[in-house]
Amino acid sequence: MRRVLPAVLAVMMLSSACAAHGPVSKTIEGPLDTVSVVTIYSGGSEKAIADVFDMLEDVDARMTAVDPASELGDIGFDRREVSRDTYELIERAVAFGRDTNGAFDITIRPVTELWGIGTGNERVPAREEIDEALAYVNYRDIELDGANGVKLAREGMKLDLGAVAKGYAADKAAEILRAAGVKSAIIDLGGNIYFLGVKSGGAPWRVGVRNPEAGENGFFCTVELGADTAVVTSGAYERFFESGGVKYHHIIDPATGCPADSGLMSVTIIGKNGCEADALSTACFVLGRERATALLENLGGVEGIFVSDEREVYITPGLEGVFKLTDDRFARADE
Ligand code: AMP
Ligand code: MG
Repeated sequence: MRRVLPAVLAVMMLSSACAAHGPVSKTIEGPLDTVSVVTIYSGGSEKAIADVFDMLEDVDARMTAVDPASELGDIGFDRREVSRDTYELIERAVAFGRDTNGAFDITIRPVTELWGIGTGNERVPAREEIDEALAYVNYRDIELDGANGVKLAREGMKLDLGAVAKGYAADKAAEILRAAGVKSAIIDLGGNIYFLGVKSGGAPWRVGVRNPEAGENGFFCTVELGADTAVVTSGAYERFFESGGVKYHHIIDPATGCPADSGLMSVTIIGKNGCEADALSTACFVLGRERATALLENLGGVEGIFVSDEREVYITPGLEGVFKLTDDRFARADE
């Protein structure tokens, strides 16, 4: 299977371990095109981490878009029966399409293939090519028959679950760890992070959100988190290429077929569900700050941190009191 470079970590853990005999931490590189780290602070066993890694390989094999032999790659004009898990994820992704008015659209793949970002074959397609590919993009044309059968309405349509697969896998990882008796853990799937339980000692988890302009180790703010929380960042800096002095990144606006240009460098979503946070981080990046905050308010139970191209930082009201700006090159938009 062809792989793209691992995504850089978008969020860094600032929490140190304080378990009696230290945390158990393991890393795997490869599944879902990224580097994943599972760290258990309390409960469970190393076997639980091995089970999580097996699950990641399985999700990767079924849901990767670049492999035509995967369940996902096989979905097209002819009806295909897929596993219940894959079916349910597609169903949820269609609902995210509806919730976001099409800013989130897993039928975007004909367009992402044209741009080729992360494949080594990047290029700036002609407007006509983009328009032609956009004719195959519409989440409403995914036909789900209620019996695990998936069919795409037109020949040439293709699915891409890249914007939700990691969040979905993080939720599954949390389920596996919980069932194995883990009480406290961090599941980091390439910056798509789930904090399970509470930190040993009961203090809140604390994360630093990556400075979208800095290298892997710079963060511009910290946020304190309660138990069982997902934190997901989508940013223009994660995967991109440059041509003629212009940067082209991997998050496509389905309205234009081009990299989303909504005035944002990154969006971080904090919520209870990894899959939802993942879908929303991508969608909010496309929507831009104003439409995105309206969406989050409507949905409820999710918070967001928006960084504009001018280094202005906007947070949703629920983060007041737990958010702290730590880099003075950035400024709060509302201050
Ligand atoms: P993320 O890093 O979670 O924001 O997801 C970005 C990935 O999702 C891209 O690499 C594409 O594979 C896919 N993608 C790009 N634009 C969209 C979109 N508007 N809706 C759904 N998936 C997208
Ligand atoms: Mg996403």
